[in-house]
Amino acid sequence: MLNGSNASLDTESNGSDCAFCMRTEISYILKETPNFLLAADHAPLVEGHILIIPKQHYACYGEVPAKLDAELFSLKQEVQRFFTHCYAPVVFWEHGIFKQTVFHAHLHCFPWGISGYDLDNNLHNLIVSSQSNIRQWYTSQGHYFYMEDSNGALLFAPEMDRYLGIVKNVFWRGIASRGGKVEWRSPQQRYEEGAPLIKAMIDKWCSFQEQGADHVNQSSLR
Ligand SMILES: [Zn+2]
Ligand SMILES: [Zn+2]
Repeated sequence: MLNGSNASLDTESNGSDCAFCMRTEISYILKETPNFLLAADHAPLVEGHILIIPKQHYACYGEVPAKLDAELFSLKQEVQRFFTHCYAPVVFWEHGIFKQTVFHAHLHCFPWGISGYDLDNNLHNLIVSSQSNIRQWYTSQGHYFYMEDSNGALLFAPEMDRYLGIVKNVFWRGIASRGGKVEWRSPQQRYEEGAPLIKAMIDKWCSFQEQGADHVNQSSLR
């Protein structure tokens, strides 16, 4: 359903059949906050592929309430610091409900530097300045997909042309920038090949956390 005045009606779930509510498709949790999980994607496209997942069941971030915005923002900043330190700046990506494989809101985080998307391509429908822009779109227009890098945040209508344009311009470029495989692979293949990538990312995350703790200790000694 692309037309969304009642877009959330078809995605309601009590969570018992949801892979993220049940945590069956969450391989490793890097961090847990009151309302979110920061987790390794279990079928990573590249090393460093992380998800920000609200603990409660929402269909997409267009449905996540404003009271969670500050917590989400600070987790995004933490991912940004981690990626900038260990990889390259973050590109955030959300399917919305369009092309979702797990029907529970999740924000993908990729260490791709910049998206490389050119505003002149005109594939986007909205320049986003806050989460409320996403909620407004979802309420009034329904489905969407979303991309953000240090140059800004964009929302796209859920149309195949736009989607494939982004996959071609942003995903292939991003995956190649991390030395990843740019040919199409099934989630099963990514899952099987992903274990060493997840392991390497967890190691970097742990040492990043330790360095952060050292830094705090040092500054509190002064
Ligand atoms: Zn769920
Ligand atoms: Zn996804």
